[in-house]
Formats: sequence, structure tokens, C-alpha cells
Amino acid sequence: MSNTKPNILLVYTGGTIGMIKDFKSGALKTFDFKTLLKKIPELNLLECNIDTVSFKDPIDSSNMNPQYYVKIAEIIESNYDHFDGFVVLHGSDTMSYTASALSFMLENLAKPIIFTGSQLPIGDLRTDAKENLITSIQVASLQSKGKALIKEVCLYFEYKLYRANRTTKLNAEHFQAFSSFNYPDLAESGVHLKINHDYLFKPNLRKKLRVHKALDQNIALVKLFPGITKTVLENVFNISNLKAVILETYGAGNCSTENWFIEILQKNISKGIYVINITQCSGGRVMMGHYETSSKLKKIGVISGNDLTTEAAIGKLMYMLGQKTPHKVFKTMYETSLRGELS
Ligand code: ASP
Repeated sequence: MSNTKPNILLVYTGGTIGMIKDFKSGALKTFDFKTLLKKIPELNLLECNIDTVSFKDPIDSSNMNPQYYVKIAEIIESNYDHFDGFVVLHGSDTMSYTASALSFMLENLAKPIIFTGSQLPIGDLRTDAKENLITSIQVASLQSKGKALIKEVCLYFEYKLYRANRTTKLNAEHFQAFSSFNYPDLAESGVHLKINHDYLFKPNLRKKLRVHKALDQNIALVKLFPGITKTVLENVFNISNLKAVILETYGAGNCSTENWFIEILQKNISKGIYVINITQCSGGRVMMGHYETSSKLKKIGVISGNDLTTEAAIGKLMYMLGQKTPHKVFKTMYETSLRGELS
């Protein structure tokens, strides 16, 4: 490969971007990545060298799981020194989950990992795939003084570059499918590519990349709703080997003050199960103690998820439990920003 142009590795995991319609059923299914590249001859015009690697069996991202996260992390780890940037093609449905988890798994990352995908397959006449893919590669190629400009896990979709662990898929139909409510866009693509330099993550460049592959899936997510019963909550906490529960509460972190509700939480927290409070609102944050309806949570030791997205809260939790983070520092560490995931 040439020394002057940046070297970019495209990692194809699956998703609509590389799907075709099944002849008989009309349903979308994945197809060979080599065909995908043939469909975009424009890639040859980019000012970078592109290499590709694909999952042997590409998947719809609804089948994504932590074992696949490790596979992606390993591809990045084994190619880290040979490439200047990485573009991961992924189904949009669970892209924010995977990209958030990867942001925690890749500590001291000093190169760009850009997740992208599309709402329409690449072969479709009106596809959004080409722009998403081409601009993602351009973003991954950006350099400043011979070094990568972007040093974090990002998600690029429909003209916007986001910090991945701040994103959520919001729309199943619009090309603008993602949003980052609690953190500004890192870049916007128009006639020019406008980078918001102040918002880019600045890692400690003296430290070497560390890839953490242990993820603990013994967690549960409970979205509160008016009318949730004691039986439901009790049964969640009775799951064997359960280590933590993420509660999606109302507004600024509020929940019912009924005795049974607080008692179940208190009993389980004292047994060593972590309870994390995030808001079910798309934007804003948890402020425990702001209302009477969240004061009790604070008192019994519920962990504040602040303005974490659900996707980032899950990724961070699996990562920290996988790390065997000691109990006495767990709360403080969870409430601290590790990869720019919370404000
Ligand atoms: N179901 C597809 C997936 O997530 C949707 C997409 O790629 O946008 O794999």
C-alpha cells in the first residue's frame, strides 16, 4: 500500500446496506460483500487505500450480540497498526448498541472507527447507502499533522457524524434515522465537511490501545410504566445470576414512591445488585433528588445514569461488570465519563 494515502479498513458485518430482495418472498436478505463493492465504483476515486474484511455470514443487526462485538473488536485489534481508520458497515437497527459497546471495549483508541449503514440497500435507485459509505470513508481518512483527526468511535448517517455512544435510532423510515440529543454533532457534511473540533474526544495519546473482550450479560432493562406490577419487578430481580438492573424512569429520573417499589429496590441493592437510573426521555438527564419522587432512589444507593442513552448504559454496564470492577468503586466509576458517553 502507498505511504502517502491513508489506509482504511472496511469491516462488513451485514445490514440493509448490503441486502437484496429475495426473489420468492420479497424479504430483504444479506448478500456477498464483494458484490457490494462492485456496486460503488466511486470508491476508487477516494484519496485513500481501501481494504475490506467481511463477516463470513453477514447478519441482520437484529441478531447482533456481544459475541459479535468481540469479533469486531478483534478485527480492529489485529489490524490496528496497519490502518489509519476503520469503517464498520452495520445494520442500523442495533448500530447504536454495538457502537456504544465498542467505545468501551476499545480503551485509549487513537484512530477513527466510523459505524455506518443505510435505510435502503445499496442497489436501490434512491439509496442512502452511497453517501453514507463514501463520507464515512472520507471522515475515517481525515488527518492532521500525519495523525488521525478523529480518535473515537463514531456513527455517520445522513450527513451527520455523531459520537457513537450518544446516539439512538429514532426513525425506522426517514433517512435521518439517528439522533444525539445530549451531545452536539461532531461533523456535518454539506458542500464542505464541517468538523466541530471542540467536541471531538481527546484521548491520552501516551497510552496504548487496550481491547477489553469480557462482557457480562447478566443484566436486565426495565422500562417503567404507570401500572407496572410488583410481580413483574420481583420476577426481574429473581433472575438467577442477575448482577444489575437498568431502570428507565420518567422525566428527570422519577418513579413511584409506593413502598413495595422502593422496598424491592432497596432489598436487592443491599444484596449487591446494582440498580441504574436512566430516563426514558430521549433528551435531558436524571437528577435524583430534584423531585420527591426520586429522592428515595438516591437515598437507597441507586446509581445515576445522568444523560446516558439506553444503548450506552447497557454497553457500559456489560463492560464494567466484565472488568470485574470492584463493588466499592462501581458507583463512582459508572457515574464518571469514561469515553465521553455522559456529560
Ligand atoms: N434490519 C436491518 C438491520 O439492522 C436494518 C438496517 O440495516 O437498516 O440489519
